[in-house]
Amino acid sequence: MNKTMLVGLMALGMLGAALLFPAPANAAITALIADRVIDGRSARALTDVAVLVEDERIIGVVKMDQIPEAATRMQLDGFTLMPGMVELHTHPTIAGDEYQIEHLRKSSAQKGLEALKSVQEMLDAGWTSIRTAGAADVNYAIVDVKRAIDSGVFPGPRMQVAGHYITITGGGGDINFIAPEHYLIPDGLRADGVEEMRKAVRREVKYGSDWIKILATGAFMSAADDPRDVHFSPEEMQVVMDEANRLRKPVMAHAHSAEGIKMAVRAGVRSIEHGTFLDAEGVKLMAERGTYLVPTLYIGDYYIEEMADSQAQAKMVALSRKYRAEALANVRAAIKGGVKVAVGVDFGHYLVPAKLYAREFALLIEAGMSPMDAIKAGTSLGAEVLGWDDRLGTLEQGKLADIIAVPGNPLEDISALEQVGFVMLGGKVIRQP
Ligand SMILES: [Zn+2]
Repeated sequence: MNKTMLVGLMALGMLGAALLFPAPANAAITALIADRVIDGRSARALTDVAVLVEDERIIGVVKMDQIPEAATRMQLDGFTLMPGMVELHTHPTIAGDEYQIEHLRKSSAQKGLEALKSVQEMLDAGWTSIRTAGAADVNYAIVDVKRAIDSGVFPGPRMQVAGHYITITGGGGDINFIAPEHYLIPDGLRADGVEEMRKAVRREVKYGSDWIKILATGAFMSAADDPRDVHFSPEEMQVVMDEANRLRKPVMAHAHSAEGIKMAVRAGVRSIEHGTFLDAEGVKLMAERGTYLVPTLYIGDYYIEEMADSQAQAKMVALSRKYRAEALANVRAAIKGGVKVAVGVDFGHYLVPAKLYAREFALLIEAGMSPMDAIKAGTSLGAEVLGWDDRLGTLEQGKLADIIAVPGNPLEDISALEQVGFVMLGGKVIRQP
């Protein structure tokens, strides 16, 4: 045996020993220290505590005198620490006010590229987990965006996606303003009848949707359909649930009309989106069954206040004006009736900077939530909707270190959530003051 071989074998032996008896990792603990901590679970903000982070996880929320000596202190004076925000209803592939026209102008690839930018901006604004609610895309660009982020090719938030919104012919996901002799592939996934619904669900799952999204009623933003109409038969909704359950995918139902909401809840959907005309019976049903409500309130105000002259969204502006008070009263009744109401904003990648998505919190407060409950709606409850409450949504030992900091005290001024100054995702600092 020559010397080189001997040295080589010794090196191998040492490597083997190292693998068998790993030395303790060079523990790099960071202590995040701010004026207060909202942990997403407690009834009050905590003071004189630090959040300890090691690698990708929170290893404790401790009194100041319990911060390990070796920890690196990150001082965020004047800030409040809280869990990263969870946005449950977003459309990052949709860009432009005339979104049904934009859908026809842009390739799936372009939509994907724009969506990547959009979700990165959301992360930078403090939204560390998002759920997309259908994409206005023939293909599945949003699934590719999620895969590229999950595999580490690009930075971005944690995502759960619905590839399409499934719609009836003439529904909110169909293009209803062209002559019948022109054939186009609409922004939604069109399905009529039990067998087409079954196939639509299977197709969504095949190509990577985490959620099945159905347009159970007409919509506010699409042309020529009416949000007061129910758009699927009970049989069609039931087959969606049967297939989704079989393939272990949750269902979210866009539903405005009271009847449509109740049909979807009875069928067993996990969340109702919008819920504009929710009635007392619907509140009772949702509370009993634990169906989540994602009311998407701010987008209506946005159109009333900032986009009143929009030609493309004239219907949206008119309906939002007409039904604002009613929708808000119904959300108030839902909150009082024990329905779990969570944060979703319904913007696409257009018009508003992602930091303004946090205006949804003020609307939930207007609908009767305390500021603390509104923050929980957009953190721990959002995580529960995603089925990720075992790993994120609160600042607690063992959770992933998805942490943000906002200036001042958001319990006194909720608009602080529009000014997120610090973002950490899985222990990695994304943004610093
Ligand atoms: Zn939507």
